[in-house]
Amino acid sequence: MRGSNLTADPAAKYLLEKKEKGLPDTVWDRYEKMQPQSGFGELGICCRICPQGPCRINPFGKEPSRGICGARDYTIVLRNLLRMIAGGCAAHSDHGRHIAHTLLALTEGKTPDYKIKGEAKLKAVAARVGIKHEGKDSISLAKEVAHKALEDYSRIEPEPLTWIQTTMTKKRLEILDRCDVLPYNIDAAITEVMHRTHIGVDADPVPLLFDGLKCAVADLAGEHISTDLSDILFGVPKLTKSEVNLGVLKVDEVNIAVHGHNPILSEVICDVAEELQEEAKAVGAKGINIVGICCTGNELLMRRGIPLATNFSSQELAIMTGVLDAMVVDYQCIMPSLGMWCQCYHTKLISTSELCRQAGDIHIEFRPETAKQSATAILRLAISAFKERNPNKIDIPKIKNIVYAGFSVEQILEYLAKTSPDDPMQYLVDNIKNGTILGIAAMVGCNNLKAPHDYNHLTIAKELVKNNVLIVATGCVAGAFGKAGLLTPEAVNQYAGEGLKKFLTELGTKSGFGKPLPLIWHMGSCVDTSRIHDLATMIANKLEVDIKDLPLVASAPGNMSEEAVATGSWLVVTGWPTHVGIVPFIYGSKLVTQIAENTARDVYGGYFIFETDAEKAAKRLINIIKYRRWKLGIDVDEEIVYWTGETAKELFAKSKEL
Ligand code: SF4
Ligand code: SF4
Repeated sequence: MRGSNLTADPAAKYLLEKKEKGLPDTVWDRYEKMQPQSGFGELGICCRICPQGPCRINPFGKEPSRGICGARDYTIVLRNLLRMIAGGCAAHSDHGRHIAHTLLALTEGKTPDYKIKGEAKLKAVAARVGIKHEGKDSISLAKEVAHKALEDYSRIEPEPLTWIQTTMTKKRLEILDRCDVLPYNIDAAITEVMHRTHIGVDADPVPLLFDGLKCAVADLAGEHISTDLSDILFGVPKLTKSEVNLGVLKVDEVNIAVHGHNPILSEVICDVAEELQEEAKAVGAKGINIVGICCTGNELLMRRGIPLATNFSSQELAIMTGVLDAMVVDYQCIMPSLGMWCQCYHTKLISTSELCRQAGDIHIEFRPETAKQSATAILRLAISAFKERNPNKIDIPKIKNIVYAGFSVEQILEYLAKTSPDDPMQYLVDNIKNGTILGIAAMVGCNNLKAPHDYNHLTIAKELVKNNVLIVATGCVAGAFGKAGLLTPEAVNQYAGEGLKKFLTELGTKSGFGKPLPLIWHMGSCVDTSRIHDLATMIANKLEVDIKDLPLVASAPGNMSEEAVATGSWLVVTGWPTHVGIVPFIYGSKLVTQIAENTARDVYGGYFIFETDAEKAAKRLINIIKYRRWKLGIDVDEEIVYWTGETAKELFAKSKEL
């Protein structure tokens, strides 16, 4: 069956198998038509930075070995890579800037539809970034925090970013400083990459690479600002129960999908939906059903328990159910095919940001100052579309799963505090040290059509939890886990190894949750990978080591967006061994590949692991965790075979020789 090979998601499978002739191509059809894809592009050795190109380097060591201007393979590969990092940093940090502007506007009384819901977070962030909160009301404190955040986009003095200086271990800051990858201004870091990669500027791989990494560190700041300020505005996520997959769409309600990344508008849509229930009933619907797609969906799931309809690759299929009345998009990860799909159904495609217009959209420009007005107009459009449904086109897969989400660091600490109130981290650290938990894996990022939808995510995760690795997840990976039922307490008995089972059950009981905590901890949207960074930093500080010393690994099994490239790069820079399931466009340069896979480890402790085979990737990640445990002195098994084929003992001896 066609769908079976393409996706591990049963709802997507169902719709792909029943797709009728005459409907537009799905992303899977377009991927098939695109084959074979350009080998030069895959290797990253195609340059079209100036109109003398495109220039292509012969990957077999023959001619041409240089571009027309003389650029070598490594220069071309790095220029392409750096521009991807800059693109990712721009997207994440612009998202953060929009939230900072909204917070600032709130403090100036310009946004009556918002209020500060995360008072405690406001104080905590203020204290962290060096703003005294005693004697100040929350509005003046929020104003100072918003200014402080915006300063990270506009600083003139070469002082490192506040959101980096205050969120790293001391040791990590020293390493970043030594390598000159501490940015002082997020926008300047992006500009510098664009300048440096212009024709006739930097051709030396070393400074090129370091500049890309500096931009990746700026990306972490942008992500962190987004998370912190969203928590201040909309509240810190707490564990919440909801549902996920296309079965959350309802035949008798007005269905509105909010899709993209930024919660500023979707939060208000949820508020206004409450007020417009009667209008929905007047057109024959039982009510209004808001669902999420991609990371806007993750934001709402984390804070409000709003059901998640699906993740990146299957976004078009939400329209194919025939009951989606409006697809409301903010920005990032919106497929340009949505307009074509909506034209075949009654679904209104509503764009809300001037940054992200779509062919065939209805544009309702969203501004924080008039948020409710925009949200009301959007909801009314969706309500009117409900009447235009074609009953013959309705087919909702009856497939959904229970999901628990909302693992903010604050929520995790609250649970841990029930076990060791004076020092919440003690319980987690003890369980890592005594081997109950082998280590922690951050699973992050996207779907990518080059691998079956969700498949590698699930394969890697199941192997890791079987080996007692605690998984924390963000982005569309977390969506994949939700669809497969892995974000539930029930999955613990089915999939967890004995140690992990013991840990989750004990913590679930002691914390008052009443059953095991969910098998995998959903920590939020892609920008919320900053929460994972915070958790790792707290563990490192508790053990008085650096992230590079901890039994931690990261995996992006389906890296797709430039944002994922930026995130993967800062994970490496901050000391995480980072698996990437879709090989990025760098294999055209042996030098760059060697640096990414090996040399980076000597400089940062983190490095990339490129592995497309999910089973092999999981084994490598487990071996790395074991090796790090041994090096940290919490495991004595010197015979563990590391992924290079050498034992831990041999590798350790080698590392001493360096
Ligand atoms: S910058 Fe150099 S390698 Fe790139 S397209 Fe122009 S001439 Fe070719
Ligand atoms: S995880 Fe990746 S695919 Fe999913 S919404 Fe975020 S950037 Fe897009």
